[in-house]
Amino acid sequence: MTVPALPSLFVSHGPPTMVLDDIPLRGALARIGRELPRPRAILCVSAHWLAEVPTVSLAERPETIHDFYGFAPALYDLAYPAPGAPDLARRTAELLKEAGIHCEPVPDRGLDHGAWEPLMLMYPEADVPVTQLSLQADADPAAQMNLGRALAPLRAEGVLIVASGTAVHNLDQWRADPEATPEWALAFDDWLAAAVTGGDTQAIVNYRAEAPHAALAHPSEEHYLPLPVAMGAGGADGRSAVLHRGFSYGSLSMAVYAFGVAE
Ligand code: ZN
Repeated sequence: MTVPALPSLFVSHGPPTMVLDDIPLRGALARIGRELPRPRAILCVSAHWLAEVPTVSLAERPETIHDFYGFAPALYDLAYPAPGAPDLARRTAELLKEAGIHCEPVPDRGLDHGAWEPLMLMYPEADVPVTQLSLQADADPAAQMNLGRALAPLRAEGVLIVASGTAVHNLDQWRADPEATPEWALAFDDWLAAAVTGGDTQAIVNYRAEAPHAALAHPSEEHYLPLPVAMGAGGADGRSAVLHRGFSYGSLSMAVYAFGVAE
């Protein structure tokens, strides 16, 4: 069955409180969920699941993982009871195998907050089946983009690929001043938006050397790495689009990008 391909998304997430906070990203994700063609299933890649090899979950009913500490009790009561997508997990493993990438299915891994929090805002009914694919812990941006490229055929099979990180993510800076957005954060975010909209895959892969203040924007890489996955999954045939931009919590960029958008 061939349907018009869905885009792949890079979605920024904030701190775990973001599903309760009044931030512009909430409205943006709700609108994106309403306006996209309804997906058959969702494959989510999150900054909060890194494994030695790409790992995919066969869970029939993925649990909501509260993988954070010291927040208000209300956050721990939240659940995202979407059905699992074991068929999609198997298809994902098959596509990765065809691309020469070993993928390990596991029976029961649930959804971490990098996955369920954006999905709760996009699809609040929790009625779209979802599974998660891990990032490979020691893989560089080029390898993550290759992983994404292997996933591209899913988009024409009614699958929405949601790669969840944070476009600018420096927790020390965020806690130091949650009110102001520093110049270095604005400069990195502008550079990133230009590289995305220009379809500049080389710049995205080489961001550490090419982007202004890359090491400040991403002291560790895990919140950046979902971006090259989303870009690779967008394929070479479509354009990219900015779905949302803006800072919340001072220095956290909440940018949302779409790849593989029809011309
Ligand atoms: Zn995170």
